[in-house]
Amino acid sequence: MTQEHTALTVALEQLKIAAEKLQLDPGIHAICNIGVFNGYRVQHWDVMGPFKGGLRYHPNVTLDEITALAMWMTWKCAVIGLPYGGAKGGIACNPKTMSKGELERLTRRYVSLIFEYLGPHRDVPAPDVYTDAQTMAWIMDTYSQLKGYSVPESVTGKPIEIGGSEGRVCATSLGVAFCAREAAKILNLKLKNATVAVQGYGNVGYNAASIMHNMGCKIIAVSDSTGGIYCSNGINPHDVRVHKTKTGSVINHKDCANITNEELLQTECDILIPAALENQIRKDNADKIKAKIVAEGANGPTTPEADKALYEKDVCLIPDILANSGGVTVSYFEWVQNLTREHWTLEEVNRKLETKIIKAFNDVQKLSKKEESDMRTAALMLGVGRVAHALKTLGLWP
Ligand code: NAD
Repeated sequence: MTQEHTALTVALEQLKIAAEKLQLDPGIHAICNIGVFNGYRVQHWDVMGPFKGGLRYHPNVTLDEITALAMWMTWKCAVIGLPYGGAKGGIACNPKTMSKGELERLTRRYVSLIFEYLGPHRDVPAPDVYTDAQTMAWIMDTYSQLKGYSVPESVTGKPIEIGGSEGRVCATSLGVAFCAREAAKILNLKLKNATVAVQGYGNVGYNAASIMHNMGCKIIAVSDSTGGIYCSNGINPHDVRVHKTKTGSVINHKDCANITNEELLQTECDILIPAALENQIRKDNADKIKAKIVAEGANGPTTPEADKALYEKDVCLIPDILANSGGVTVSYFEWVQNLTREHWTLEEVNRKLETKIIKAFNDVQKLSKKEESDMRTAALMLGVGRVAHALKTLGLWP
């Protein structure tokens, strides 16, 4: 076989020739022309409670990535003190090139294939990169149809009208902002006019920029997968969102200079919020990070070598399993509301979220001081330690 062909390209070419000869109906040809999507659901540990974790749609999804994300969910739930184990799901696809109907069929097929492993007391999905409240509604409906009755507690991050929680959309970002605020207090850094750079302008990035802006910070740089923008006078996050909705990207915004994602990470600022994907702050660029605080909205944005370099530079890094735990916390609140058929107010949700995040932040901070370690090590010691203790208490059977 020549290099320009794979077995699949050969099979598709052969199908095309036969379809032309047969003058096959284009619809039937399209159905024969099977596209294969690889989907995963990894369940890491459930000693603390049912599995919980997001569902990601992205072309680069692999089993390796989903396994890491599932493991981080286990530690995250333990750090924040939720009765959940860690899981994660993903489908390797490009949602930007798919229609709403294709995304709905992909989601429903995925749920039907792993249906027996899901459920409110077994494994409860939630949104992640390129999935949203609509995706969760399809998951709830597919699960409920297969059960024969409505099961809103089977998924979180749903639209409010079908059992979603107030505050879920902004929860991850609000948690990031609470953590950044607590870290700023420790560093004696005033939030008023503190400069902030945000990488990623989706659910977590946009809402983090917006909340930090409302807290009095100056958002000087933001980016998405197409590149970034910088403005030393400050950017209005809402205006940038309107611009992104219109043009499909944050770049080329009036009064801002276009920058690369690499330049965004190296921006001179007080607070840096990575809110895109993994492996963004690495050995090769960690030395160039100028922020005083790095609050990880994304999962896994910093490699272990970069962690070490930032710690040596006295950068206060708030690790993902603490900083972005607001999302799973309000997902837990949504699940509790669904199980008890209650609906809490936004004030109640946000008050409970703040209490939990600040307690976890202080627990991690205290341990990092005691151990003379960075906050990631302390957070992991807390999370892994709690899971290991539960595992030991339960024992292994059979
Ligand atoms: P999203 O799909 O809403 O947004 C992702 C954003 O990242 C988009 O703006 C996209 O353009 C941008 N992006 C993609 N590749 C990029 C690149 N190479 N450089 C710069 N920007 C890039 O996803 P989200 O829900 O906001 O998730 C973002 C991160 O936060 C992920 O790591 C996710 O696991 C984590 N997270 C999300 C939640 C949640 O509740 N949604 C909770 C905890 C953690």
